[in-house]
Amino acid sequence: MGESTCIFCRIGAGEIPAQFLHQDDTVMAFRDISPKAPTHVLVVPREHILSLAHITGDHGPLLGHMIEVLNQVASAEGLSGRGYRVIANIGADSGSEVDHLHLHLMGGRRLGSMG
Ligand code: 5GP
Ligand code: ZN
Repeated sequence: MGESTCIFCRIGAGEIPAQFLHQDDTVMAFRDISPKAPTHVLVVPREHILSLAHITGDHGPLLGHMIEVLNQVASAEGLSGRGYRVIANIGADSGSEVDHLHLHLMGGRRLGSMG
């Protein structure tokens, strides 16, 4: 999927609406359209990186900033004291739907065991 048709690039360009919790020059956070938990937020770089599998050392500052934003959003959602889960899907076996890197921030209920 190219950048012009990528749904997260289009959200970043303001072409598709989203419920933003954070936006800056490099990173945005918005609510998942189909939430699986009381808080289900996607933390997304503006850059069209395909997945976590395409991260190199050069992306270190960007990844660090994504985690910083994720923790800030978690705190703003009242999750700091109770905990939360971070998920990144990579490739077919993960069920990944959108080929633009995103971290799922989920919380607000007991999430149960993985798997
Ligand atoms: P993946 O399975 O690729 O890790 O997750 C993609 C996520 O993006 C899904 O949880 C899905 O609900 C969400 N999503 C797909 N399209 C849109 C959209 O147009 N807006 C928002 N806010 N989320 C979307
Ligand atoms: Zn994209």
